[in-house]
Amino acid sequence: MKISDKMAVSIHYTLTNSAGEKLDSSRGEEPMVYLHGYGQIITGLENALKGKEIRDKFNTTIAPADAYGELREDMLKVVPMSMFEGMDKVEVGMQFHADANEGVDVVTVTKIDGDQVTIDGNHPMAGEALTFDVEVMDIRPATADELSHQHIHGEGCNH
Ligand code: ZN
Repeated sequence: MKISDKMAVSIHYTLTNSAGEKLDSSRGEEPMVYLHGYGQIITGLENALKGKEIRDKFNTTIAPADAYGELREDMLKVVPMSMFEGMDKVEVGMQFHADANEGVDVVTVTKIDGDQVTIDGNHPMAGEALTFDVEVMDIRPATADELSHQHIHGEGCNH
């Protein structure tokens, strides 16, 4: 069986950035399961998995445009400290959920200059070329329920 749309796919992966630092890994935990063809994982990784079979192992480096996007200057905003009223403290590196036009995004405080707070709405991995070391663990057709819900059912999620 090869990976194609509407398959439930289980993979183990290790993610490193261009500096070779490990950012994430499923090794030592349950494999990650996703529904292929629904944009649930980054585009570059989904494309690389297409046509692969169980026990296939591969390594792929994905450009920012097919990962979490390029860094965008217009995602940086300077807001007054009064926006954070009610918080004990505001520090560089803190992350907040902010209501954006297209939903809720995570923003990171990157600079504080007196009353001026710079927040960055870029994804923390934006601008990074990401390398995935992948092993395909399982492939099965998704169930009708899973397709109608557009996610995989399993332990802890079977609604
Ligand atoms: Zn469901």
